[in-house]
Amino acid sequence: MSTDLRQFRRVVLKVGSSLLVDRARGRLNHAWLAALAEDIADLHAKGADVLVVSSGAIAMGRTVLGLPSGPLRLEESQAAAAVGQITLARTWSEVLAHHGITAGQILVTLADTEQRRRYLNARATTLKLLEMRAVPVINENDTVATSEIRYGDNDRLAARVATMIGADLLVLFSDIDGLYTAPPASDPNAEHIPVVDRITPAIEAMAGGAASELSRGGMRTKVEAGKIATAGGTHMIIADGRTKNPLKRVAEGGRCTWFLTPSNPATARKTWIAGALEPRGTLYVDEGAERALHGGASLLPVGVRRIEGAFRRGDAVIIRSESRVLGRGLVAYDAEDAARIIGRPSREIERLLGYPGRTEMVHRDDMALSD
Ligand code: GLU
Repeated sequence: MSTDLRQFRRVVLKVGSSLLVDRARGRLNHAWLAALAEDIADLHAKGADVLVVSSGAIAMGRTVLGLPSGPLRLEESQAAAAVGQITLARTWSEVLAHHGITAGQILVTLADTEQRRRYLNARATTLKLLEMRAVPVINENDTVATSEIRYGDNDRLAARVATMIGADLLVLFSDIDGLYTAPPASDPNAEHIPVVDRITPAIEAMAGGAASELSRGGMRTKVEAGKIATAGGTHMIIADGRTKNPLKRVAEGGRCTWFLTPSNPATARKTWIAGALEPRGTLYVDEGAERALHGGASLLPVGVRRIEGAFRRGDAVIIRSESRVLGRGLVAYDAEDAARIIGRPSREIERLLGYPGRTEMVHRDDMALSD
């Protein structure tokens, strides 16, 4: 695999709290962040979609609020996040604006990436921002996420976001330049691993067991993130973020660990739609729609003749003609609403339903046709 970052069309960069926040001085590492913004602008100017998953809200907020060091209670970290997130988002917006790039803040909770209905909404908004060439700056919504329903670490959050929006590369910037056979700080024989083709139990063991996990966002959550990313067709890199212009350093072949996937986001998504979900209903399409689907189009309400099943928006449904099954897809409407708009042109949707729904019954990105 070449290290040429220009081959990637959609890249998620995850930046950890320790890189962003200078705890001793109680502020963000502005110069470092400005240099990273240069790297981002470079990638963006080459045409890639760039997303940032930025930690630092809690670390920043606790300094501002003068909270003592050591573990925080949940309400304390939620309060700290509320304070820190404002500064964090404003700073990202400023450093990117310096390069003429618009930033958009997205705060997500676990449910936004795990429940299909909410996931589809989060995905649609994020894709719209990318289409408008903005750089989404994403963090967990720590202020409302409670312990049972939160990620807690942005490594796995970043991996879920990356697969959700079909990124082909995720870069985790850390305070270490990749995965080692053992912790390099304590083991002089530890060897750096440049490429992981498959995450085996041996690789997981190198990242340390649960007992050795002292901080959130350690090597263990990074390898967990690697599993999520590679299963979704996204390559992942763990790289040292401590130098200035860390992305440039990776692009120039700086030491890091690549987690490679044999798949790609489009194929992984189609496999997921085609196989992993239990279909909740059936859409019968007419001949015109059948031809359009095979030409790569989305399925519009006008092309659906009738429906079966009590499906909900975001559920998997079977798409078929009267004579044969064509494939599967994630439907954009609940069955009751779908029944009211089938056979009708999309411009009538708002009048028929009383709200402006999606133009497509099943978007082509949410569809897997059988060959
Ligand atoms: N979401 C947390 C924050 O912004 C960071 C989680 C992590 O350290 O991975 O402070």
